[in-house]
Amino acid sequence: MKNITIIGGGPAALMLAAELDTKKYNITLIEKKKALGRKFLVAGKGGLNLTFNSSIEKLINQYSPSEFMAPTLQQFSNHDFINWLNSNDIATFIGSSNRVFSAMELKPIEVLNKIIAILKAKKNTNIQLNTTWLGWDAHNNLLFENFETIKPDIVVFALGGASWKVTGSDGKWSELFKKRQVNVLPFRAANCAFEVNWSKDFIATHEGKPLKNIALNFNNHFSKGELVVSKFGLEGNAIYALSEKIQNELLSNNFAVIHLDLKPTMSESQIKAKFIKNKKLKITDALKKVLNLDRTAIALLKQFTDKDTFSNIELLSKTIKSVPVKLKSSEALDKAISSLGGISLSEIDENFQCKKLPNTYAIGEMLDWYAPTGGYLLQGCFSMGYVLAKHLNNQKL
Ligand SMILES: Cc1cc2nc3c(=O)[nH]c(=O)nc-3n(C[C@H](O)[C@H](O)[C@H](O)COP(=O)(O)OP(=O)(O)OC[C@H]3O[C@@H](n4cnc5c(N)ncnc54)[C@H](O)[C@@H]3O)c2cc1C
Repeated sequence: MKNITIIGGGPAALMLAAELDTKKYNITLIEKKKALGRKFLVAGKGGLNLTFNSSIEKLINQYSPSEFMAPTLQQFSNHDFINWLNSNDIATFIGSSNRVFSAMELKPIEVLNKIIAILKAKKNTNIQLNTTWLGWDAHNNLLFENFETIKPDIVVFALGGASWKVTGSDGKWSELFKKRQVNVLPFRAANCAFEVNWSKDFIATHEGKPLKNIALNFNNHFSKGELVVSKFGLEGNAIYALSEKIQNELLSNNFAVIHLDLKPTMSESQIKAKFIKNKKLKITDALKKVLNLDRTAIALLKQFTDKDTFSNIELLSKTIKSVPVKLKSSEALDKAISSLGGISLSEIDENFQCKKLPNTYAIGEMLDWYAPTGGYLLQGCFSMGYVLAKHLNNQKL
């Protein structure tokens, strides 16, 4: 038997602990909060989107870097995850957008409790709450607040990223790893809102309003979906999906320009033809009645279009397909759904082992990978936990 300590009590850690072979390992799972899976519960507000229903190729393409995630997702795919959930009495359903949710009748806390029950039913598995990992001592023993100093045979870190600190994922661990010469990249907000300089009139009327069925283009990276106008700027799945690319642009430039397609179902020439056919209508009426744009979309078009363009159907048709919106910054890291940065992927081997720290592994959002919302983040974390458990279970002790 070997002793394994898992530090962090989020999805990556829970899956690892659930799947580790207790004929080989004594498991101690340590979490600093008084309960496990706080961020998982936050993710479940408004529907627990666990994964995405697509082919494995399409799934892998959503991750960045996809080459890094591919072997993990191939070993534990979205369909494997759905089967795993279902076989553990967690029913799922596929929503209209192909997002996969836990069944309506199951609250997120019930899903979490069913996963925790797997751990509690295992022998040789000890869960230690209210215990913060503080680093290593000079002999590489693990130090904790209110807990004995230990040196397990294997330690797995699953400490999460650095957003929503209230859930426990505060990224403070990064300094501890840096002291051991591990390259930890700075955290930045991902899947987050971006700042727009709205005119006072626009935001007074349209704050909180959605822009539905739009498409976005950022430097020829495309996304579709919904945006919501906020006082700060724009949020919603369509911009979250491009957040990594926009953040990278903001690193080198102080701004980024996205282009909104307010009518993705029609081509520029079809829009122009509609204007010509209805030339007796005022432009604003044609936008409303013929193109079915709502008040917020029309007001946004007006804010980012000069008068000459607005009165010229050729230029206006072009602009409706590509409204330039300047983004000044991202929202605060703590408000973001996930974070970029964390342990550089060059620091870990193909089995998530830290190259500089033998018998020390890291999984989940604490590694520097990105995925958009849509269930991809949880899928990535659960897959890493599963695949690492499989690897450790196959070790000859
Ligand atoms: C608002 C919001 C909505 C989201 N919605 C979705 C969604 O719909 N679909 C989706 O796929 N993903 C979603 N996510 C993202 C998803 O929840 C995370 O990617 C996932 O929880 C990360 O899992 P993890 O195991 O890597 O880490 P975490 O879940 O962050 O867990 C890490 C754990 O480590 C503990 N810890 C940290 N430091 C220490 C320490 N020093 N000592 C001991 N313990 C420590 C923390 O307390 C925490 O419990 C959402 C996130 C947020 C914030």
